[in-house]
Amino acid sequence: MSIRSIALLFGASLLFFNCSNGQEKSGTQETPADSTQLPHEPPPISLAQQAREAGFDKDYLTGNFEPAEHPDFVRVSSKYADREGLYLREDTYQAFLQLREAAAAAGHTLVIRSATRNFDYQKGIWERKWNGQRTLSSGENAAEAYPDPKERALQILKYSSMPGTSRHHWGTDFDINAFNNEYFESGKGKALYEWMAAHAHEYGFCQPYTPKGEARPHGYNEEKWHWSYMPIAQPLTALAEEELENRDISGFAGADVAESLLVVQRYVLGVSPNCLP
Ligand SMILES: [Zn+2]
Repeated sequence: MSIRSIALLFGASLLFFNCSNGQEKSGTQETPADSTQLPHEPPPISLAQQAREAGFDKDYLTGNFEPAEHPDFVRVSSKYADREGLYLREDTYQAFLQLREAAAAAGHTLVIRSATRNFDYQKGIWERKWNGQRTLSSGENAAEAYPDPKERALQILKYSSMPGTSRHHWGTDFDINAFNNEYFESGKGKALYEWMAAHAHEYGFCQPYTPKGEARPHGYNEEKWHWSYMPIAQPLTALAEEELENRDISGFAGADVAESLLVVQRYVLGVSPNCLP
């Protein structure tokens, strides 16, 4: 099965899942006397299994590929981005174009600021912050302010992923307009955010990093600029939950603390319930 057709596959299996649930409910009075009788329908396959059958694996989850050379990826037109050379999965890009058009009709402009970032790219971001070559959003030099590696990682993890754990690896996620929540809290940024909060889900998108609280106790801080394409990102999240382990997160400065920080459970899986199936 081609990865390209995965969105259709997931749509179809969701329908199937709903159908079979309905049949189970209506058929409760006809429980077969013989408990060894086979059910009418095979059990629906899990989202993680669907992701596996579509060809996704741990290398994909951890961004160990080159988006420019991957057959499922396309280049984002510079008309919709702040620069050349950004890539998204084609299914995600097509959905983005529809989202963008609807937003434009309502008077809002979407500009992609960041899209797919593979392991090596994320390693560059992470290590520059780790080594203090790039300051944190607080303005601090992490290497000087936080000599303890665990504390340093936690500070960087407020907004940046460890290489191997970013949803930006997946080609399903992008950042729009501005990398600060303040932009989205007044004027045209606020109007855009309110429109996205009300309508992005109609095009398959959700905001994974909502404010932290009871519904989302762990993970990155709120990011009003980061949006995710659910038809592909949900099965990838399910696959990560089953296959990705903290010891897989390695190959960069500071990776030693990944396991003690439970980066898979708290960061990869620490997303808004709105983004989960
Ligand atoms: Zn992002």
